[in-house]
Amino acid sequence: MGSQWTDFILFVLLFFLFISVIAFNRITQTHKVYLGFHFIMMLWPLGQFAIKMTDFPDVQLVFINMSFAAMGMLGPGWLIFVFFLTGRAAHLKLSRIIAYLVPAGVCVAVAMVNPDHLFMSPVGGSYLTRVYGPLFWLLVLIQFAYFFTALMNMFHALKTVISINQRKQLATALIGMFVLTGFGLLDVLLNVVLVNWLPVIPGLLALGILLSDVCFVIAIYRFGMFDILSMAQRDIFEHMTTGIIVLDENGKVLEVNKGASPFTQSAKGESFEMEKFLAPLQAQGEVYEFLYRYNHHPYEKLQLETSFQESAGRHVSIQISPVLDDRKTLLGRVITFHDVTELRKLVVEMNRKNEALHERNLELITIQEELFRVNQKLETMAITDALTGCFNRRYLMQQLEHEVLLNMRYQIPFAIFLFDIDHFKQINDKHGHLVGDEVIRSTADIVRTMLRRTDILARYGGEEFTIYLPHTNREQAELLAERIMLAVGENLVDSGSEKVRVTISMGVLSESSEDLRFDDPKEYLREVFASADSALYQAKNGGRNRVVMAR
Ligand code: GH3
Ligand code: MG
Ligand code: MG
Repeated sequence: MGSQWTDFILFVLLFFLFISVIAFNRITQTHKVYLGFHFIMMLWPLGQFAIKMTDFPDVQLVFINMSFAAMGMLGPGWLIFVFFLTGRAAHLKLSRIIAYLVPAGVCVAVAMVNPDHLFMSPVGGSYLTRVYGPLFWLLVLIQFAYFFTALMNMFHALKTVISINQRKQLATALIGMFVLTGFGLLDVLLNVVLVNWLPVIPGLLALGILLSDVCFVIAIYRFGMFDILSMAQRDIFEHMTTGIIVLDENGKVLEVNKGASPFTQSAKGESFEMEKFLAPLQAQGEVYEFLYRYNHHPYEKLQLETSFQESAGRHVSIQISPVLDDRKTLLGRVITFHDVTELRKLVVEMNRKNEALHERNLELITIQEELFRVNQKLETMAITDALTGCFNRRYLMQQLEHEVLLNMRYQIPFAIFLFDIDHFKQINDKHGHLVGDEVIRSTADIVRTMLRRTDILARYGGEEFTIYLPHTNREQAELLAERIMLAVGENLVDSGSEKVRVTISMGVLSESSEDLRFDDPKEYLREVFASADSALYQAKNGGRNRVVMAR
């Protein structure tokens, strides 16, 4: 098999590798760069193969130029790719890329122009065998300079990268670089320097290219060099509304997302000065404290919520977290900016509503208390007599229905007094109704002072009163009735111009515990009051100012 087929097979393999990268990956910017120079690398074996397929020196020269153009671009290609690989693509400005391409471009141009055959000359009219001149060596040297720079970059990246996964990726890529450089050197050594002494080994550089590409493809697959996760993270980082700035330990901005742009204009590579950033807020003590902690306690997590006059009084929550490695050394800091204006507004609105609710509640409580008082008053009014403050007849009867049942059940003796002011019409006639009222009130007051708390004094109607006395036997009842009668008789009512004195007549009913038997309390009470009333009637008939015991 001719040596040209070695190059062809290597080209085909490289081609398949090229296709597989496209087929099995989501193509990112880094993939595009990789594929770009993978394509350039494919041109080398293709050119080498094509040269040997023709006998026309002019056509051969075209393919040789293509090969050397590919070889010339390998160096800068790798160098640029390494920038992407080590995550520093952002440092690559267009001017820098052009600067990287210039030496290689000059070399390629020189190779093509081949002035005075200083690059190479054909042997025996054919370019199949060639003699290389000093310009060729310049191209080789420059290529190695590129590789060397790329290697240095990767070593540097290996030292600074923290993630184990990324280290593995870089290590695999580094092996690829060594393989390529090694095979390149071997090719130059065997097929150029020692070409007269040793047989030509075809496809050495192409094999190196293939093997190094395999290393890169392995790195892509096995370690997810351009994995979706990091792309997603990048995407989230870029598009999240929270502003984020990542600083290195010296306060230089490593990363800044779009979300941070409303708060700060700091760009990547610049140093972030917190003093300057907070300058519009320096009047506040809280800000001084924050600044002090930021400057003197870099290991602390900090938080500050403040408003920026510059951005239309928007409220911002600033958080600062240290980034530490396994050994707790400070690598940098992450600053996040969160616009909390809407949240603040909501909180203020909520507080306002809460306050209104609280006030409304207080009002309700006051109204409730008022209602309670009114109700109590109504209740009292419903059971008391307005003139004397005694209970009214309705309340008395209600209570008695309950009391007599209790008295029957527990055999409790009780008494009912029924008394009426004597000749009261005359009082009214003589002194007027107002004095009459005063007499009624005063009589009730005097009687009330002589009763126990459990006794019930009620105005029965007009100037007629009832007293219910539980736990009272006949003797006690009679005694108390006499005393009340006497007390009233002695009471002088002040009527303004003169003193008025009245007497009362009283009918007393005493119920002993043994005799108490009834079915209907209402019916029973009717009988009781009839008896008391008749006793009172007897008292009136008997000459008034006296007590008559019923039955
Ligand atoms: P007796 O000794 O027989 O009881 O003679 P009396 O004049 O007291 O007769 P009676 O008890 O029948 O009269 C009740 C009078 O009391 C009739 C009414 O004008 C008067 N009276 C009833 N209620 C009130 C009141 O609230 N205020 C005043 N000033 N007078 C009342
Ligand atoms: Mg009377
Ligand atoms: Mg009367």
